[in-house]
Amino acid sequence: MSSQTSASPHPVAVIGAGFGGLALAIRLQAAGIPTILFEARDKPGGRGYVYQDNGFTFDAGPTVITAPHCLEELYALAGEQLSDHVDLMPVMPFYRLFWEDGTVFDYSNDTEALTRQMRAIDPADADGYERFLKYAAEVFEEGYVKLAHVPFLDLWSMIRVAPQLVKLEAYRSVYSVVSKYIRDERLRQAFSFHSLLVGGNPFDTSAIYTLIHVLEKTWGVTFPRGGTGELVRQLARLFERLGGTLRLNCGVDEIVTRDGKVVAVRTVDGIETPVSAVASNADVVTTYRKLLRQDPVAARKAGRLEQSRFSMSLFLIYFGTKRRHPHLAHHNVILGPRYEGLLSDIFHRGHLADDFSLYLHAPTVSDPSLAPEGCEAFYVLSPVPHLGKADIDWMVEGPRYADRILQYLESRYIPNLRADLVTQRIFTPLDFQQQLGAHHGSAFSLEPVLTQSAWFRVHNRDSRIGGLYFVGAGTHPGAGMPGVVGSAKATAGVMLEDLAHLTRGRA
Ligand SMILES: Cc1cc2nc3c(=O)[nH]c(=O)nc-3n(C[C@H](O)[C@H](O)[C@H](O)COP(=O)(O)OP(=O)(O)OC[C@H]3O[C@@H](n4cnc5c(N)ncnc54)[C@H](O)[C@@H]3O)c2cc1C
Repeated sequence: MSSQTSASPHPVAVIGAGFGGLALAIRLQAAGIPTILFEARDKPGGRGYVYQDNGFTFDAGPTVITAPHCLEELYALAGEQLSDHVDLMPVMPFYRLFWEDGTVFDYSNDTEALTRQMRAIDPADADGYERFLKYAAEVFEEGYVKLAHVPFLDLWSMIRVAPQLVKLEAYRSVYSVVSKYIRDERLRQAFSFHSLLVGGNPFDTSAIYTLIHVLEKTWGVTFPRGGTGELVRQLARLFERLGGTLRLNCGVDEIVTRDGKVVAVRTVDGIETPVSAVASNADVVTTYRKLLRQDPVAARKAGRLEQSRFSMSLFLIYFGTKRRHPHLAHHNVILGPRYEGLLSDIFHRGHLADDFSLYLHAPTVSDPSLAPEGCEAFYVLSPVPHLGKADIDWMVEGPRYADRILQYLESRYIPNLRADLVTQRIFTPLDFQQQLGAHHGSAFSLEPVLTQSAWFRVHNRDSRIGGLYFVGAGTHPGAGMPGVVGSAKATAGVMLEDLAHLTRGRA
């Protein structure tokens, strides 16, 4: 493999050090391909950025770390072990769900505890759950085990899996399939909200995403000691240990093409680096529209992609309190008075509703070192319409919306919250757009509906522009840490094959 290194005249560039970019860069470098990872921000991680405020550590994004085997694979490529570098602590329960009627439901892979709680709500649903599990297990086998790391480069690859998709009723929504087995509305929400974790409305997202239930059941939910940021730091170090070059504060301004092929990247400081290939972990629309602005093929591609459906955006408050709150779990899902109606406001109507459903992260439950002694670190996340759907001036609305959320939390879940606040910062859809280059400020890139999945998603290799590849949430299989790390495996496979071909051609 290292023969590729010597024969390849230029390094490969990966643009963006999100989980997908990091995983791809590790795979390429481990295969002997000199790789430069360009990151616009001052730290790697992308959506997995970290804020340090007044002694509190706030992970900006991913906190539910599942499928650790996909990370273990990266260390194995270097002959190392993940557990020597990152302590992935099991989190139990996986989520604590709260409803306004006072119902509390601890969701986990403890089937007995789960069915006991379900039986107390509706005995028929405990039996329905067993049947749901059988269905979801089959989906998991077909959709995750067999297909998550496969690059869907041609239509034929999609046609081949079509009969299986039909058999598994992939054309139905997550909520509709869950409702086939479970009748209590609260439990339907408990078993369908997961698609929101990858940017999908449970009423529109393909039932294939019920596989998340089995994925979590199989490998559990974990949290890295020191926070997700520690996992990111360790992956960046692994890449550098392998000999890769990580350039922080080094945004790529342009991917330079000549005769339909990528030849260089130009960074914002004007420096041009010749490359043999580029993989973009940046937003897919922004890559075609802005980074490839001189290329007519890319402009057409951008135009088509702009017609796609994009996932919702998010509004986040990272805050710390001077008190602990033992009734909360590490991951709390707070469901408001409306489910389908609220989701329609977010995904279809583009309306900022008066009510909300929230995810409340309380990592100090698992790792008290993330806050000063006796204090609690939190973030609260509210799904909101993306900027293309709702014309909201977040500079004005942001602080107001934050107050409403904190007031709501205080009235129902965190007494004295506002008096106990030690630190607070917000992140709005505008920040997703401006700081991460996300089209419409979407938090998870293309919406994961069936018509935008697998072959219908952005391909790992561009079919028209030579040497251009993609990795991350906009590609197959989609958003979420396991998804983007899976996409890195698919993209690395294609790139290594192409680069080997190139080398043989030169020899
Ligand atoms: C608030 C939030 C919570 C989430 N929670 C979870 C969770 O609990 N579990 C889970 O599995 N997933 C979760 N997700 C989803 C998951 O975080 C993302 O899908 C995933 O991290 C995206 O990774 P990515 O590889 O697509 O890259 P991104 O994270 O999108 O990173 C892309 C990187 O590219 C950089 N970049 C962009 N343009 C340029 C340029 N021109 N030059 C150089 N660099 C550039 C950006 O600065 C960024 O660092 C969450 C997402 C959010 C937003």
